[in-house]
Amino acid sequence: MGIIHKSQLKSPWLLHYDGSSCNGCDIEVLACLTPLYDVERFGIINTGNPKHADILLITGSVNHRNARVIKNLYDQMAEPKIVVAVGTCASTGGVFHNCYNVLGGIDQVIPVDVYVPGCAARPEAIIDGVVMGLQKLKEKTEEVAG
Ligand code: SF4
Repeated sequence: MGIIHKSQLKSPWLLHYDGSSCNGCDIEVLACLTPLYDVERFGIINTGNPKHADILLITGSVNHRNARVIKNLYDQMAEPKIVVAVGTCASTGGVFHNCYNVLGGIDQVIPVDVYVPGCAARPEAIIDGVVMGLQKLKEKTEEVAG
């Protein structure tokens, strides 16, 4: 059983990974950090360390090369944790779904808790997806705590 901290429920730390996107969704994720949206005012921190992250935010599709990386990042995160697939590519493979090296959406390799629609996903939708993820994180926290 992991150590549960109350702050996880309101101030999640995110790890953003770009699968094989066109970078459109990545720009929108970055927009969330700009003064216009400023998600840090809610205590949402973008960390580079999977061991510090509560939420794995993934843009782009899964391919044969990055499937192992995505699984590895996910496995390094402590429970409870959630995965948010940002944009059509992360959800289904999107415009890349017929490429010879593409496996599809993120759920081909790890469980996904929230799917954020859009090509590209708008910052408002990404923030909304993270907020939905917080509710799921709360449910998982309660499960782990028993
Ligand atoms: S969903 Fe659209 S904008 Fe986002 S990575 Fe895929 S092609 Fe690019």
